[in-house]
Amino acid sequence: MKLVFATNNLNKLAEVQKMLPTSIELLSLKDINCFDEIDETETTLEGNAKLKADYITQKFGYNCFADDTGLEVESLDNKPGVYSARYAGLENDSEKNMEKLLSELENKSNRKAQFRTAIALNLNNKQFLFEGICKGKITQEKQGEKGFGYDPIFKPNGFNNSFAEMTSEEKNSISHRGNAINKLVTFLSKYKS
Ligand code: IMP
Repeated sequence: MKLVFATNNLNKLAEVQKMLPTSIELLSLKDINCFDEIDETETTLEGNAKLKADYITQKFGYNCFADDTGLEVESLDNKPGVYSARYAGLENDSEKNMEKLLSELENKSNRKAQFRTAIALNLNNKQFLFEGICKGKITQEKQGEKGFGYDPIFKPNGFNNSFAEMTSEEKNSISHRGNAINKLVTFLSKYKS
């Protein structure tokens, strides 16, 4: 079965392909000649994941899954959440996003936060949703150089290192996205059409 992963990130695609049975062939957006900019206009992670998966299934006719991730900070009413990429402006500037978040938390003692990933899967005219969560805390300052986005200021519970101080293998084994992808892979591995 061919299955589109609505992403242009070939590393993400290869990583998930390795986890799937060989009967499932993952295709990227480029593989199906989709070069469209799919705007994430919904107000929830699930909404954006569904919107992207539905766009591909409706326009290109493929089974497809799409993901969306946000950082939810408890004392900020779960912001930036679905707006994580655009928190400090439209340009998805991680440095500015982290600076803004650290300054919003300056006088707050509760620094609990979680990354949450939603995945929507369109499979043979049915839709399935998967969620992965990684709970932790926002640090006082940036720690580490690896990773991307908010990694330098997020420390998962039970660890002394921020995500940006972990190898990608370490991070993937406990991360929100890894967790959601594992649920998707388990589902697909057992799926009988
Ligand atoms: P996306 O849905 O994977 O594109 O994520 C949206 C935004 O959330 C990104 O632009 C990052 O700012 C942030 N983000 C998502 N996943 C992570 C992560 O694993 N670490 C740090 N930041 C992340």
